[in-house]
Formats: sequence, C-alpha cells, structure tokens
Amino acid sequence: MIIILKPGTEPAEREPIEKLLMSKGVIVQNILGEPTSMIGMAGDTSSISEDTILRFPCVERVLRVKEPYKLAGRKFHPADSTFDICGRKIGGGQFTVIAGPCSVESEEQILSIARDVKMSGAGFMRGGAFKPRTSPYAFKGLGLDGLELLKIAREKTGLPIVTEIMSPEYLDAFAEDVDIIQIGARNMQNFTLLSQVGSLGKPVLLKRGLSSTIDELLMAAEYVMAGGSQEVILCERGIRTFETATRNTLDLSAVPVLHAKTHLPVIIDPSHATGYWHLVEPMALAAVAAGADGLIIEVHNHPEAALCDGAQSVTPQVFHRIMDKVRKIREIIA
Ligand code: PEP
Ligand code: MN
Repeated sequence: MIIILKPGTEPAEREPIEKLLMSKGVIVQNILGEPTSMIGMAGDTSSISEDTILRFPCVERVLRVKEPYKLAGRKFHPADSTFDICGRKIGGGQFTVIAGPCSVESEEQILSIARDVKMSGAGFMRGGAFKPRTSPYAFKGLGLDGLELLKIAREKTGLPIVTEIMSPEYLDAFAEDVDIIQIGARNMQNFTLLSQVGSLGKPVLLKRGLSSTIDELLMAAEYVMAGGSQEVILCERGIRTFETATRNTLDLSAVPVLHAKTHLPVIIDPSHATGYWHLVEPMALAAVAAGADGLIIEVHNHPEAALCDGAQSVTPQVFHRIMDKVRKIREIIA
C-alpha cells in the first residue's frame, strides 16, 4: 500500500498517519520527493482501510501495490538505490567490481590476489571461508581461519571483504568482520538465514538460486530487507537449464528485467554462470553493456592448483585485461 500525500505536506501532518500505521504492525517507509511525498508500507496491510487513511486532509490518494516485494520493489522507491559501503558507491550509475578467489587458501594466496585485483581496479575482494560444496568430501573452506586471512588482506590492501555465510552460527563473526555478507545461490531460499542476516543491518550480496525465478529472488531480498538490512545487492550467477556446454546459463536479460522491477543494484557473476575462465571475459563485457551495476569475478594466481573452481578462475593478467575493456564499454554506453 502507498499513500500519496498532497504537495507541501508538512512532517507534522504526516506523523499521525505514520503512528496509526505502525500501531497496525506494518513497516512504514517515507519516500520524500518534490513536490510529492509518499508513505510506503510493507507487511500485512489488510486491516488498514483506505477510507480511514483518506480522512487525513494531507492525503491525496491511496494505492494498493500488487507486487509482494514492497521494500525491494520500485513502486515504493522509484529512484535507483545507491549504497555507500566502506566509502565505495554501489548502484545508481556507479560500477563496482568484486574480485578474488573462490576460496581463501592461504595468506600468501589471498594477499597476492587481493593486491593484484586492487591494482586492476577492483573495489572489493571476495574469497570464500565457508564453501557450499556438492560433495561432502570436497574442500569446504578454512572457516574462521579463512576469515582471519581475509582480515589480514583487508588490512594490507584496504579492500573490503565480501564473503559467504552459510550458517547462523557465525552471525556474530560476520557482523564484526565482514563488509558485505554474501548469501549464496544454494541458500537463497533459506528463509531463516535471510531474516537473521537481514537483522544485522549490514550490506548483503544475494545470489540468485540455481532454479529460482526473478520474482523468487526479489522475495528473498524482501526477507533480508524486512529483517532490517536495506542494502541488498542482487546477483545473477546463471541458472539451471538443459544446456550442458556451460556450468549454468547466464540469464543476462535478468539485468534489465530486475532494473524495471527493483531499485536495488544488480551485478553479474560470469564465473559461476559459465564455469570456464575463457567465457568470463565475453560475458563480463556483455553484462556491462546490458547495464549491470557491477561484476563479481573469480581470480586465482594459480588457477590450475586452486582448491575450488579453478576452471572458471581467471588469472590476474586476464582480470586486468577484462577491467580495461570494462572501462572502455562503460565509456561508450555512458
Ligand atoms: C561463490 O560465489 O563462491 C558461490 C559459491 O557462488 P554461488 O552461490 O553463486 O554458487
Ligand atoms: Mn566459486
């Protein structure tokens, strides 16, 4: 539900409406604009009568929103969201690149890669400390030790940390140490985890589930936002199709489709989308041309020896080249 206020409505006129709405247990969001401001609501609005709201003299119109994602949707928040995370801007015309290995393996490895990707222009470093692996026998990450190594790399390079949380057990550690908390494709519909991570109020990178629709991704974002965090970055990382030539199928049209539906930034992961390092560059460039707000790319200094996802990891040299081309495409489409 959205309440459209008459031009020039004063805060004092709005307040009694907000109080009434909050007493009904809904989440209230003020959307301040010139000349018209609005009040957005999320949650169960069924007990709120339009006629009651229309009695307030400052109310011009009341609209019921059909989309179930009220906080993530554009209706309540028509302008693109721009987040300032550790002094770096994400969304709203800015372009952000997150780069690093699939998993943190050693201090030497994460430090060397972090230095390289920073030099090439990455704004954040990625690196899994807790890895969701299909096989229980595969390398599952260094856990909290991996987080410590990421902190060392952050300290030495200044690059903020993006890393995946898999269990609520580590919420406190992530709240303390991680700059953007990643929720992986396999946990996109782990609703308890979504709400709990949201309650930390920290920036979240939410990856699309392997077989999830765009609306399901937006509902997952809604869980995080209803939990408390408003800074959610969406990530298209390829979906399951009948095609086997690539690890997944990159749904590039998700970029403009999501931009139409949501104000949240949308980034592309060409690494997990394709599964092969030589496909990362063309898909990264296509993502830029399609209007993505950023990229997350797996980079490894010795891909042939990587403990996870070596086949899709580009070397620092290839990453450097990709970044050069990304900048050129950005200039053309600006
Ligand atoms: C990752 O980014 O390390 C990862 C596991 O990605 P996804 O959840 O998209 O498979
Ligand atoms: Mn990976």
